[in-house]
Amino acid sequence: MFEARLWKSLKNESVQCRLCNHFCAIKPGERGRCGVRQNIDGTLYALNYGKSRLSISTRWRRSRCIISAGTRTYRWLPWDAI
Ligand code: SF4
Repeated sequence: MFEARLWKSLKNESVQCRLCNHFCAIKPGERGRCGVRQNIDGTLYALNYGKSRLSISTRWRRSRCIISAGTRTYRWLPWDAI
């Protein structure tokens, strides 16, 4: 288990995760919305640290990331959909 990054302490040993825009307020012993960050005694831990895997199907291996100019959005499309 690995102490998470991007969080802050709240009252009563609760914490607020700031990794994504859900900004979960997590009480001791509970997990955030994603289920992989847990508050243990007022410290936020990343339960999946070092365990993440990315599985990409054959179709998606040949894909492109389309970044829209002037925005913060992107789309990940298979090669044959472009
Ligand atoms: S969903 Fe997970 S990563 Fe996002 S703020 Fe909540 S605990 Fe953090």
